[in-house]
Amino acid sequence: MGTTHRCVCGKTLRYRQDLAIDRSGTTRTWKCTDCGTPVPGGVAERIGHQHPS
Ligand SMILES: [Zn+2]
Repeated sequence: MGTTHRCVCGKTLRYRQDLAIDRSGTTRTWKCTDCGTPVPGGVAERIGHQHPS
């Protein structure tokens, strides 16, 4: 069980390592590691806590 997000590029984002963090601004921006498209914050925060076990 867990949160997944289907990126516009077709990649399924499921785990922390599927996201890249952009800390260049005052807030964290989560992006798809494949295409760099920003992931909605609420979804990204949940995915960011998920790890393959
Ligand atoms: Zn993508």
